Amino acid sequence: MPSEIKGYAGKLLRVDLTEGTLEDWPWDEQAYRSYLGGTGAGAKILYDEVPPDADWSDPVNRVVIASGPLGGTSVGGTGTISLVTKGALTGGATSVQANGLFGAYMRFSGYDGVVIQGASDEWKYLILKDGAAELRDASEIMGLDTYEVSNALKEIHGVRGRGAAVLSIGPAGESLVRWAGVFVDKGHSASHNGPGAVLGSKKLKAIIAFPGDRKVDVHDPDALNEAAKAIYEDVNYFRGTIGGVETGQKSGLGTLPVKNYTTNLWDASDEKVDAYGEKYLRDTYQVGREPCWGCRLLHCAWMEVKEGPYAGIVEEPEYEQLAAWGPAIGVDDVEASIMLSGLTDKLGLENNEAGWLTGWLMECFEKGWITEEQSGGFKIAWGDVWAVVELLEMISKREGFGDLLAEGIKRVSEK
Ligand code: SF4
Repeated sequence: MPSEIKGYAGKLLRVDLTEGTLEDWPWDEQAYRSYLGGTGAGAKILYDEVPPDADWSDPVNRVVIASGPLGGTSVGGTGTISLVTKGALTGGATSVQANGLFGAYMRFSGYDGVVIQGASDEWKYLILKDGAAELRDASEIMGLDTYEVSNALKEIHGVRGRGAAVLSIGPAGESLVRWAGVFVDKGHSASHNGPGAVLGSKKLKAIIAFPGDRKVDVHDPDALNEAAKAIYEDVNYFRGTIGGVETGQKSGLGTLPVKNYTTNLWDASDEKVDAYGEKYLRDTYQVGREPCWGCRLLHCAWMEVKEGPYAGIVEEPEYEQLAAWGPAIGVDDVEASIMLSGLTDKLGLENNEAGWLTGWLMECFEKGWITEEQSGGFKIAWGDVWAVVELLEMISKREGFGDLLAEGIKRVSEK
């Protein structure tokens, strides 16, 4: 059904995973105007449909993934989604956003949003294409990390690169890690408060959306293009936050989190600090760009560590990732920080909680507050990169000590 007002597809998709049904849900002008954007729609639906005392893993919980009136237009960066649910970490209402292409492609597929409810017996993935939707068996993609799911679904559906957008959970979401995130187009993360665990509880592994005719009907395309141009000119200085560790250190203001925030004095050499700078990172590692929908800013590039123990290719890490996997855990090798940033996203873990938990564990082991007896033989010290890899993998599969840590730092520290 065409939308009554420009800028909207005019319907949401209701996915009932208990029943295995898909239903178009038309929204009228009043609803769109009253509950603006993806977060507005999600908040309204959550408020109306999820009882206050419902647990996050109760099938009655909803995951609303929605765009807004600018989604997929000429305004740069409007591939954003807002995801609204009752989160697994706090049990409270939460809204998280991720950029990329998915929000735009969902709208091109004919939906302003998707409302996911119920819980399936078997793992599924959802297809959004040309105004229609389909649920399919996900057994082929189970256990894959978020980068692998994206590759696998594109291969299954015969597209490459930007020919489809994929939203998924990694092994952490499958294992119901309370701080598992939802990841879009490799590395865009909508992750705070455990939305990946909520999708995991419903047994929905991924959604793939196709771009169709790449059109969204707007009221005045010329005026919107002018506004988009002005917005771009206003922000075209932006280069992401990738260089924040270097600038934080060199500012002399003591803004860096060092060794689980026990100090703000980082003793890395000048050469090591320089390697965390934006120019060095782009000159040394950037191998291609992967901008979000319509975005012309120099941000969201592919970073490749070409050789050595940390070799691999990851989506551009942000400041919070490089700080978490650098000074906060006693690492001063930027290539290790890049690798750990990518690994966290691939496993489907939320980066902030991962960094805090790791730094906290390192401090606990240093001070003897946690023993190997308690951890089942696992131990970790400041700067031990391979122990971090082992830790993240253990958590994402809820193996051994990782099962407890999957509950999140607050619950673990209370034990
Ligand atoms: S590429 Fe970066 S700046 Fe552009 S929309 Fe995406 S996240 Fe925002």
